[in-house]
Amino acid sequence: LWQACLETLQRELPSQQYNMWVRPLQVQAINQDLVLYAPNKFVLDWVRDKYADRINELLKEMAGDKSPNLKMEVGSKPVAPIANPKLELGNKPQGQAVGQNNHPLNNGFAPQRSNNVAHLGQTPPSLRSNLRENYTFDNFVEGKSNQLARAAATQVADNPGTAFNPLFLYGSTGLGKTHLMHAVGNEIRERNPDAKVVYMHSERFVQDMVKAIQTNSIEEWKRHYRSVDALLIDDIQFFAGKERSQEEFFHTFNALLEGNHQVILTSDRYPKEIEGVEERLKSRFGWGLTIIIEPPELETRVAILMKKAQESNFDLPHEVAFFIAKRLRSNVRDLEGALNRVIANANFTGKAVTIDFAKEALRDMLALQEKLVTIDNIQKTVAEYYKIKLVDMSSKSRSRSVARPRQIAMALAKELTNHSLPEIGAAFGGRDHTTVLHACRKVNDLREENHDIKEDFSNLVRTLSS
Ligand code: ADP
Ligand code: MG
Repeated sequence: LWQACLETLQRELPSQQYNMWVRPLQVQAINQDLVLYAPNKFVLDWVRDKYADRINELLKEMAGDKSPNLKMEVGSKPVAPIANPKLELGNKPQGQAVGQNNHPLNNGFAPQRSNNVAHLGQTPPSLRSNLRENYTFDNFVEGKSNQLARAAATQVADNPGTAFNPLFLYGSTGLGKTHLMHAVGNEIRERNPDAKVVYMHSERFVQDMVKAIQTNSIEEWKRHYRSVDALLIDDIQFFAGKERSQEEFFHTFNALLEGNHQVILTSDRYPKEIEGVEERLKSRFGWGLTIIIEPPELETRVAILMKKAQESNFDLPHEVAFFIAKRLRSNVRDLEGALNRVIANANFTGKAVTIDFAKEALRDMLALQEKLVTIDNIQKTVAEYYKIKLVDMSSKSRSRSVARPRQIAMALAKELTNHSLPEIGAAFGGRDHTTVLHACRKVNDLREENHDIKEDFSNLVRTLSS
């Protein structure tokens, strides 16, 4: 349970904060209590003040009525835990982000720190690679939706600076952009441990730059960025409206490209569609290779769940994976969240993991999903998107301008709801189930052949399932 809670916190908090305050906590379950041990009063107060509410909320979310009472104390866990031998393998070179991988709590074992500054080291934040070592190619499950992106990322890792530069990955949230980006960085470092790889979220990049300006160290800052072998900037849609940062980034970007240093960028949308970013920058983003990551299909979602369960040493019955994957369609992060919740509940209650068990554990998540994606809603959204009349979703008209959107709406209904073909046909003006099937096949073919339709389809999925 605590592990699941930690994973969420790690996602939600800036890594600095997480490493500084949450990582040092030790935990012990005593009857109905979950006791957190903080290394000193300073940390205790801070955590109590800033994070206790959220932690309680997460515990409630994950364990419901059975959620433990949260207690906090200064001290350390009473029983000495057995250190996991794996920890030894994880000795990382210096100068890297603080213990990204050697997560002490994975082992129920937190190193005591003699003072609370030393671990920040001398390296200024921007010099760190910030790579998350648990995001690798090995644990990235491949499927049709991410195959191209993964292949391109592999190429870039094989030939940094020369394969595709920049590599621009886009797609909606929770589909693995950040994961792939780190995988490239990790692979580059694995082959060449001296390579300077820097990962930055774009917001952080902007903050750092502002700080560099304030402290008169902008020249050094620039030099630093221009000397890296690979620069990974995540979620660059957050550059929107930040003109000075865009300007600096533009120059850095050019300098890196000219020197054949690899640049990898991600965004939640196609470069041309990012608002508030200069045209010249957007057009440069497209100089290398631009690839979309789409929401994974059912088989991939099942594979991801099975893989993640296996990584957590959790015995997930295939039909339960299938049940979850069938219902949570839009986003791998939600899939992971659901799995973590099932695991936490199973560990907590000791019950057998059946479909009914999962249904119960995920009740609110599933309800939310079902409420959002109805055939009605799909028809409305598609009609609006293509600027046609809602009645044309069920009309007899065969004109291309309405027939195509109608087919897309049917395909979406098949993909996003649990309705059968005949039910979908009925909702679209009493059409036959073979018409629906034909529409689904047609749309699938079109998505392969036609870039616009592919884009439309992902935009619609995104709108409908966000
Ligand atoms: P994004 O950056 O696109 O919002 P992330 O890279 O943060 O998404 O992915 C969200 C979560 O889903 C991460 O924990 C990531 O490891 C996981 N994930 C996404 N795609 C895959 C995949 N194909 N295989 C395994 N895990 C994945
Ligand atoms: Mg991301």
